[in-house]
Amino acid sequence: CFVPTQKAEILNQRKAKFGDNLKLTYSDPVMFMRGWKHHLFDEWGRPYLDSYNNVPHVGHAHPRIQQVAADQLLRMNSNTRYLHPAQIAFADKVLSRMPKSLDVCFFVNSGTEANELALRLARAHTGGKDMITPDHGYHGNTTGAIDISAYKFNAKGGVGQADWVQLIDVADDYRGRYRRDDPQCAEKYAAQVDNALANIKQRHGKLAGFIAETFPSVGGQIIPPQGYLKSVYARVRAVGGVCIADEVQTALGRLGEYYFAFEQQQVVPDIVVLGKPIGNGHPIGVLVTSRAIADSFAQGPEYFSTFGGSNLSCRIGKEVLDIVDDENLMDNALQMGNLLLDGLHSLHDKYDIVGDVRGQGLFIGLDLVTDKESRTPGTDIADYVKNRMRENRILMGTEGPADNILKIRPPMCIERQDVLMILNVMDKVLAEAQSLINMKD
Ligand code: PMP
Repeated sequence: CFVPTQKAEILNQRKAKFGDNLKLTYSDPVMFMRGWKHHLFDEWGRPYLDSYNNVPHVGHAHPRIQQVAADQLLRMNSNTRYLHPAQIAFADKVLSRMPKSLDVCFFVNSGTEANELALRLARAHTGGKDMITPDHGYHGNTTGAIDISAYKFNAKGGVGQADWVQLIDVADDYRGRYRRDDPQCAEKYAAQVDNALANIKQRHGKLAGFIAETFPSVGGQIIPPQGYLKSVYARVRAVGGVCIADEVQTALGRLGEYYFAFEQQQVVPDIVVLGKPIGNGHPIGVLVTSRAIADSFAQGPEYFSTFGGSNLSCRIGKEVLDIVDDENLMDNALQMGNLLLDGLHSLHDKYDIVGDVRGQGLFIGLDLVTDKESRTPGTDIADYVKNRMRENRILMGTEGPADNILKIRPPMCIERQDVLMILNVMDKVLAEAQSLINMKD
C-alpha cells in the first residue's frame, strides 16, 4: 500500500529507471492517485481541477467505462482475426458521425500508429512518397510520424527535415506572416502549398498527400482562418494527393459546435485520424477512410495489429462515444467553452500580458506576451502562470513554438462553478504576473 512520503523516492527511482527525455510537467512534480470527472486527487487526497487533460474525455474514472472494461475482461480479450459484434458496433458508431464518403475503419492503439498507417495508405493510393505539412505540427513518436512532425524533427537534437517532407507555415493569424486584419490571410497561407508542390517537382518527387492537425495544438492552439483548409485541399487534390486530417486533439465534440474540426473548415478529408479521447485513457487509435483508399492499401500485404480493435478496445471506444451523446457533452463543451472564453476575453481587455484569446468550445489557448504592442512571446510569463495555477490546484499546460501559449482543454464534463473558479484564480495570477512585468519596466 502506498505511503505518501514515498513521493521523493518514486521521483528518484524514476530518474534511475527511465530515460532523461521522459519529461515531468512541473519542476516540483505532482503525483495523482485517484480521479473523478474533471478532478484529480494527489497522494494526500487533495483535489486538483484538471483543466488540461483531454484524454479523459468523458471524465476520469467514469463508472460506465469501468463497467464495460470489467465485463469484457471477465469474458475474453482477443483480436480482429476473429469475429465479434463489438467491432461492428464500434465501427458503426464511429462511422455514424463521419461524412458518407468515409466508410472504412482501421483500429489501432494510438494516434501515432494511426498517423503512421495514414502515411502508408496515402502512399499506397497515390504511388507518391512526398508529404506537405504545416510547421510546428505533431503527429506521433515513431520514425515515420516524427518525419512529418516539425515540432520534433526541427527540435534541438531532432533528426531534421527529410527530403520528402515540405513544410508550409502554420496558419497562425495572430503572430504568423499573414494576420487577421488581412482579408486574404487564409488564401495566402494556402498558396504556400503551390511552392511546396514546385519543390516536389524540382526534386522529381511525387506527392502522396497533405497532413495537418485540423486545429494545430502543439503549434499553439491555433484556429486557422475560414477557407484555409478548403483552399489547401483543392490544391493538393488537383495533383492527386490525399488529404489527412489529424483530429486527435479536436474530435468527439470538444469544439462544442462541431463534432470534428474539419466541419468548421467545411471540408471532407480523405483520411481522418482519431486518438487520445476515444479511449478515455485506454490506448485506442482509429483511422477512417474511403473504400477506394482502403482498397489501394489492400493490394499490399495483410494488415494486422495484435491489440488494435481488441474486444476490450471496441467495447470501451463505443462506450466513450455513447457517453458523449447520452450526457450531452458536446453541448456542455459549447456552453462551458463560451463561458470560459467570455471570461478570458475580459481578462484580455484587462491585462497587457494577454496578447490573444482564441478557442472553440473546450479547445482554448491564451497567447501570453510581454506587451500587446510588440507581441513578444511571454515564455517566462506562461511558465509563471502555469505554476501559480498549479499552486492553486488548477492544472493547465503551455504550448507553442515559444512555449508561451497557455493551453486549456478540460474533460468535457467540466461544470459552471469550475469555469468560474478558473477565471477567478486566473484573474489573480495574471494580476501578479502583470505587476512583476510592470516592476521590471
Ligand atoms: N496527433 C496529435 C495531434 C497529437 O496531439 C498526438 C499526441 N499528443 C498524437 C498525434 C500522437 O498520439 P499518441 O501519443 O497517442 O501516439
